[in-house]
Amino acid sequence: MLTYSVEQLPYFDAAFYDRARAELSKVAELTVPPRDANAFEVPAGHFLRIVSVEGPQVGDLNLWNAHDLSERFYSGKTRALHATHLSTGDRLWSTFPRLRPMATITHDTLDWYGWDEDGAGVHDVIGTRCDPYTNLLLKGTEYHHCCHSNLTRALARERNLPLAEAEVHVHDVMNVFMCTGYTRDTHQYFMKASPVRPGDLIEFFAEIDLLVALSACPGGDCGAGHSDDTAKCYPLKVEVHRPHESALTGWQSPPPNKYSRSHGTR
Ligand SMILES: [Zn+2]
Repeated sequence: MLTYSVEQLPYFDAAFYDRARAELSKVAELTVPPRDANAFEVPAGHFLRIVSVEGPQVGDLNLWNAHDLSERFYSGKTRALHATHLSTGDRLWSTFPRLRPMATITHDTLDWYGWDEDGAGVHDVIGTRCDPYTNLLLKGTEYHHCCHSNLTRALARERNLPLAEAEVHVHDVMNVFMCTGYTRDTHQYFMKASPVRPGDLIEFFAEIDLLVALSACPGGDCGAGHSDDTAKCYPLKVEVHRPHESALTGWQSPPPNKYSRSHGTR
């Protein structure tokens, strides 16, 4: 049986999101340079679009509550509640004790990909992020433009934090546009070239005020390698859109989880 019965989760009201995204005004646009990251805010009730431009490029996504960095995207629980790979209708859940939807995926031009003959899919929450520690462990060399370092620098810049203080807030990502799976024989994590092409996009509805960081992975389309300068890399475009006010009538940010937090002591 499935570990979690997702029928109990807050219902994905497709009609509501469709109505909200029907009339949008773009309020911000920025570019994430290749092998680098940017951090920016997306207010609750706005849409975030990550758009492929120029060439196939994977993005590593981190989300925080804009007012409290201790509430951040919980990749493991999101995977357990939804699936190893996400698409329209899935939520990005936050860490304990709040455990609530931070964002909802409202559009995905790669949803046609589904599962391929190797069992791979797009937009996984099974990878962590490429990082300089694992790289040193496996290759014995230092590389400074892994997604972990890119996200760390972007957060430090955005929040004016010392690098070491920013680093502890960086967490396991959603691998936007990345094509991954587990090998059938040994169940090991594999990647293959992303099917993403310029014009493709994934869109999220911000359920709470978000601080977002996005890294354009040094792996490029992640068809060969990462954690070095060999792959061809491209920028990613980010857009923030505001829906018409009337479309959000009656909508509210999801409240934090109501568990008593007594943990059996009362
Ligand atoms: Zn990466």
